[in-house]
Amino acid sequence: MRAVILGAGVSGCAIANELDKKGIETVVIEKNGFLGGGCHTFFYGGHPYTEGPRPLAIHDGMAFDYINSVVKLRTFPLILDSYNEQDQQFYGYPIHWDDIQIMPDKEKILQELEARPKVNTATNLEDGWINAVGPTLYEKYVKTYTKKMWEVESNKVFEDFSWSVKGSPIQHGDRICRLGAESESQMHAYPIEETGYNRFFEYCVRNSKVYLNTNIEKVDLEKKEVHIAGETIKGDIIVSTISLDDLMERCYGELRYMGRDFHPIVLPVEHIFKEGHHFMHYPNNEKYTRIVEYKNLTGHKADSTLLVMELPSHNNKLYSYNIKSEQDKAAKYINALPNGVYARGRLGTYKYLNINDCIAAACELAESL
Ligand SMILES: Cc1cc2nc3c(=O)[nH]c(=O)nc-3n(C[C@H](O)[C@H](O)[C@H](O)COP(=O)(O)OP(=O)(O)OC[C@H]3O[C@@H](n4cnc5c(N)ncnc54)[C@H](O)[C@@H]3O)c2cc1C
Repeated sequence: MRAVILGAGVSGCAIANELDKKGIETVVIEKNGFLGGGCHTFFYGGHPYTEGPRPLAIHDGMAFDYINSVVKLRTFPLILDSYNEQDQQFYGYPIHWDDIQIMPDKEKILQELEARPKVNTATNLEDGWINAVGPTLYEKYVKTYTKKMWEVESNKVFEDFSWSVKGSPIQHGDRICRLGAESESQMHAYPIEETGYNRFFEYCVRNSKVYLNTNIEKVDLEKKEVHIAGETIKGDIIVSTISLDDLMERCYGELRYMGRDFHPIVLPVEHIFKEGHHFMHYPNNEKYTRIVEYKNLTGHKADSTLLVMELPSHNNKLYSYNIKSEQDKAAKYINALPNGVYARGRLGTYKYLNINDCIAAACELAESL
């Protein structure tokens, strides 16, 4: 059997590895000149970085073991901060009980927390957050951040908010971010080697025929044929990790995405953030959403440091919209896939997946074939 895999991000690479283990011949087609999508490690001023911080949250340990068997991972507690311009204060993120104690509007916040409903029956993200933390904390941490990140007029457009209001939104005790890591270890992990996850991606496609820098001109899903410059690649199955609308010539309309531009900045100091702190959110009127100090993730040693500033943009497809109309459109595409065509990964499912989800889905797909 021969599988044509579209896209060589975490999903496409892990799928190639899993299908190869089953003795399936694999061909991987990728538009970029590199593997790994946003998890590929680039260098700027000698500093390694990815497009957006990509530490692996340790859930059940499956994805950790999967990657760690190829590139060794270092584990650490993830610590995030948020700069509140109005209060001129740096607070932790998620919202921390100890930070509330030093806020100028502490009394009002405590009253609002007291008045929270016992059951959160909200039907949109804004009300969901207000019910969870009260209006003042929602304004301080979430309101403007979410609006600028998604370019929406109001956060009420998000009918589902389970992806945003996670767990108990006010943290007590230590400052470790548990938003991604829900297992007992509550730790995150990142490759020890300077090139990050890159060697893992190369390992995954070691037995595949890989086409990089390759534009897909047309996909004939029924015939399982992929047309690229001057060549037709035929498979028995197609596994697509590219956007559903790109795969199917936008037959149900364009899917809405938000992207990010990443601006690396090298500065002549050894560290900017406090030791062990990884990124800073900016939930105010700044145009940027987040700044990451990569050394603290990668462990890179140098006299200088690298910050990467993230600005919301339409230059790439990174975040699908958790809005019913867009999710329904994505479902139409998925339901129309013929037999022998599988859509996986963050773009292939139009879902807010993390690295763990992508690897688990690759293993499940291979098992089901
Ligand atoms: C900014 C950001 C930060 C994140 N941080 C974390 C984190 O901290 N921890 C975590 O676990 N997860 C994180 N994630 C999520 C995680 O990185 C993704 O779930 C994962 O990388 C998705 O992999 P994928 O292969 O499904 O998709 P992608 O990485 O998007 O791969 C799709 C691939 O297909 C290629 N492609 C697209 N269209 C075409 C085409 N027409 N022809 C050929 N090739 C095409 C792309 O170039 C890309 O290489 C983050 C995501 C973002 C956007």
